[in-house]
Amino acid sequence: MRKYFYTDGVNKFGPYSKEELKTQKISRGTKIWYLGLENWTELSQIKELEELILNIPPDIKPIKPSFDEKIKNTELEPISKIIPLAIKINKYHLKHWGIAIVLSFFIAFIINNIIRNQSEYNLYKDIVASSYEADEKFDVYIEKFYRDLEFYGIFPKKPKKTIIKFSRLDQLENTTHIHGLSLGSNDDNRIEIYINPSSWKQFSKPMRYYLMYHELSHDILNVKDLEKNISNEGKLMYPEISSYEKKNMDDFIESYQTLFQEQSSKWKNRK
Ligand SMILES: [Zn+2]
Repeated sequence: MRKYFYTDGVNKFGPYSKEELKTQKISRGTKIWYLGLENWTELSQIKELEELILNIPPDIKPIKPSFDEKIKNTELEPISKIIPLAIKINKYHLKHWGIAIVLSFFIAFIINNIIRNQSEYNLYKDIVASSYEADEKFDVYIEKFYRDLEFYGIFPKKPKKTIIKFSRLDQLENTTHIHGLSLGSNDDNRIEIYINPSSWKQFSKPMRYYLMYHELSHDILNVKDLEKNISNEGKLMYPEISSYEKKNMDDFIESYQTLFQEQSSKWKNRK
């Protein structure tokens, strides 16, 4: 006669005969073991105890799963469902982080520009405020400049307002314009140029012409500085006119004629 054992998960009961087992408090889910069975096996899975099962009412399933069961169910969530969800969450976060990073760079760029423009503005304000009328006939340079332009077929609109004054430019960080500064380059209705009086005093006649024509070209022709490399040395828009100590008037004439020649074709195409 086969003897059966059962367990409540903690304690072991038995041995019982099949008849004795019927009188025990067991359910369909109770784990049973008998000699020859490898593992504890649920009663419902044991064929030879079928008649027992028929006499036991089915287990009442709890309406709400227990906390343990919830954990078990969560753990059993198929990985195939979890991975795409994780990727989705990651994509969402990455996208937003990306936007946040781009946005913060953009904001930093704007703030930086505002500060720079503001400090540049304050600097120019200082330059303008500390400027004064020079006892120098700058008009002569302007008149010659326009005459020379006309010779090359360039007829820019003559601005109503012309300011050419001395102002100390030594505070400029950009040493390119420590000798002269044009503030009217984006305004066709005004010429506004400030000349550093100490540079003017030091400069030879050709250098003064270089400087005036350089600033007038910025202001009237909206021409930009050339790069500070050796191949541009000697040209009018070279940003180191203070190094032109050995240049003479012929050098100067050649430099402005070269620029005006270049500008004349641009001028014609613009029309
Ligand atoms: Zn310049």
